[in-house]
Amino acid sequence: MGEVLLECKHLKKYFSVPNGMLHAVDDVSFSLEKGKTLGVVGESGCGKSTLGRTILRLLPHTDGEVIFEGQNILQYSGEQMKRLRTKMQIIFQDPFSSLNPRYTVFDTIEEPLKIHKVYKTQSEVYGRVKELMEVVGLAARYENAYPHELDGGRRQRIGIARALALNPSFIVCDEPVSALDVSIQAQVLNLMMDLKDSLGLTYMFITHDLSVVKHISDDIVVMYLGQIVEKANGNDIFAHPLHPYTKALLSAIPLPDIKYKGKEAETIKGELSSPINPSPGCRFAPRCPKATEKCTACNPALKNMGSDHWVSCHLYD
Ligand code: SF4
Repeated sequence: MGEVLLECKHLKKYFSVPNGMLHAVDDVSFSLEKGKTLGVVGESGCGKSTLGRTILRLLPHTDGEVIFEGQNILQYSGEQMKRLRTKMQIIFQDPFSSLNPRYTVFDTIEEPLKIHKVYKTQSEVYGRVKELMEVVGLAARYENAYPHELDGGRRQRIGIARALALNPSFIVCDEPVSALDVSIQAQVLNLMMDLKDSLGLTYMFITHDLSVVKHISDDIVVMYLGQIVEKANGNDIFAHPLHPYTKALLSAIPLPDIKYKGKEAETIKGELSSPINPSPGCRFAPRCPKATEKCTACNPALKNMGSDHWVSCHLYD
């Protein structure tokens, strides 16, 4: 195993809502090696974006630890966090709403450099912005363009350049290609993977779409209603999914190179249930075709089935 950059230990993020406690992230643990990509997959509402934001301390946590480079950053003071922000960044889903419409491309990429006072002179700042534009494949002629004048792919390149401005080592990529046309998705994904290799980045790649992370993830965790239900090496997840929910997600992928079809295919019915005051059983039970009485009585723990392939399901007790 390589050097661990980030480790989550029993991380919880609850929200107090009028009718109880919403368990958005509920006892999530995993580790992420330096230079690797962790895919975090699940339906909208499963807590994956909240997980990313809690790790980055954009949201306060409820319990647990986030160990980054050996330190529990949930204990950091505001000043320590300000220094850490240069190392941990986020790329958002919708580049249009995450960019200030009154800022040009140059203003947007320049902003973090100014906030963190990285350079002493404006010419150094200018040089760095031009360098970042080149790195993400934005032509120099767009320097004074506004977000509404650009297509989705170029807008997301601005978001990537901005995230890279401070030379981070870890980036949470929150559905970074979901709002883009399919033809542009591949270009942006390829750019992100090239940057990961050339700059030695570590990614946590959040998506609702397993097919998006197939080619880019070293490891994958599958989340359901705030909890990890399966985690393993990406190839293992695609070749030998264990959890009925993972099987259902794979069955729904319409790509010919993803072969998980046929007799074992599962379908899920109904909607994600509410994460408010969850019942004690398996959270997938209301939609699971294999559910038994035991499933509604107690929530299965994550178990290592060998080769670091973990699953939480009573079928494997
Ligand atoms: Fe289905 Fe039971 Fe497994 Fe939950 S524990 S996924 S309900 S079989």
